[in-house]
Amino acid sequence: MSNTKLEDIVSLCKRRGFIYPGSDVYGGLSGTWDYGPLGVQLKRNILQLWWKMFVDDREDMLGVDAAILMNQKVWQASGHVDTFTDPLVECSNCHARHRADKLDDPNKCPTCGKTDTFGEARQFNMMFRTFVGPNQGEEVTIGAPLDEQKRSVDLEGRKAITYEPSSVSYLRPETAQGIFTNFKNVVDSFYPDMPFGLAQQGKAFRNEISPRDFVFRSREFEQMEIEYFVHPDNWEEAFTMWLKLVHEWTDALGLPTESVHELEVPEADRAHYSKRTVDFEFDFPIGREELLGLAYRTDFDLQNIQKASGKSMDYRPKDGGEPFVPHVIEPSFGLERSIMAVLAAAYTEDEVNGEKRTYLKLPKHLAPVKVAVSPLLKNKPELVEKAREVYTALKKEFGNVMWDDNGNIGKRYRRQDEIGTPYCVVIDFDTLEDGTVTVRDRDTTEQQRVASTELTSKLA
Ligand code: ATP
Repeated sequence: MSNTKLEDIVSLCKRRGFIYPGSDVYGGLSGTWDYGPLGVQLKRNILQLWWKMFVDDREDMLGVDAAILMNQKVWQASGHVDTFTDPLVECSNCHARHRADKLDDPNKCPTCGKTDTFGEARQFNMMFRTFVGPNQGEEVTIGAPLDEQKRSVDLEGRKAITYEPSSVSYLRPETAQGIFTNFKNVVDSFYPDMPFGLAQQGKAFRNEISPRDFVFRSREFEQMEIEYFVHPDNWEEAFTMWLKLVHEWTDALGLPTESVHELEVPEADRAHYSKRTVDFEFDFPIGREELLGLAYRTDFDLQNIQKASGKSMDYRPKDGGEPFVPHVIEPSFGLERSIMAVLAAAYTEDEVNGEKRTYLKLPKHLAPVKVAVSPLLKNKPELVEKAREVYTALKKEFGNVMWDDNGNIGKRYRRQDEIGTPYCVVIDFDTLEDGTVTVRDRDTTEQQRVASTELTSKLA
């Protein structure tokens, strides 16, 4: 796996319909990616697995799905307006802009190769700003009278865009705030026992200075986050529980244990809200990098909301104890990085009958296509008819079953191997005689004859 090259994964993803560059037909839009038919299925399988493991299978978790656009007060109170920044440097020679803390050589511009062309780094806020409602976007010429009381001005060349400051909103840079802002709502309607968690999956947006490494650093991505509310005395116990649960998750993704590493993040590198953070790193083809994070966010967010909104975030213990503002353990999972890790772990090359083969050794529960069904020859109506029958029955049972009658059988197997389909079922002339079909295993390439009446139960 350590030999897997990122470009091989990128190329397989595009060729086979997993992931395409965003807006590809127009030359792309940096930091955005579109999912094709197989990519979207893989993504859904991961999202569903996560929801099942952390919400459906547990008694202490509830789900929410908050709006992406939120009141700007959310991002003021959370500290994101002031501090959600990365250091930016600009090259005085080629004017390329880079993230200062991610440069291989802090004095050398990776775009033009010149040294000592960077000035002082400035803090660049990564939130995408937008405007809600029709009170924005009027273009005026600079110098024209403006009602300064009501309007702020953005300079754009010789023109200015006016907007109502109160209409400013941001595309959320994390899903977490949508959970915190609903804490009181959920407690009011459910009054769950403490500790309990709220889970959310959804898009997050960051105007990354240098998006790169395929989907690893994107400007639009998906997060799967949990805020686990605890009594302040119990945060360490909950943190330990989540360390273990995160490992169960990486196992369920099929990631080799030896490729997943815990990194205790030193205080200086922690986010502004965190008292303890453990990053889970993975040996990606680009090197060892953050896959997901586990943070102890204290009561930072609920206290800020309480202050800014004037509404109490107290939790009243059911045993009559003192009300308290809960503390929070936050496991934050990135979907794109999960997909990249899963693909990197699954990407395998071997040799079958002297020929090189590439295949995705995906865990079966994640494979986008569960079974492919083929008639041995597509110009024999009796084979096609029988194969259709098998296909319809399997599709009813397993959902993601693919009909594949393109090219010869060898080519079909190669194609299915490359997309990680665990089993191929072939209907041939023997099927018409004795009712058995060939089932071919992706990993071993072994073929077995199975009675078509037993096919569903065997595959299940
Ligand atoms: P990094 O240090 O790599 O920028 P981060 O520490 O800022 O990441 P968090 O704010 O902890 O990331 O976000 C939680 C998770 O969201 C990350 O572990 C990662 O899986 C995912 N994530 C964050 N930023 C991006 C991005 N630009 N593209 C894809 N996934 C991301």
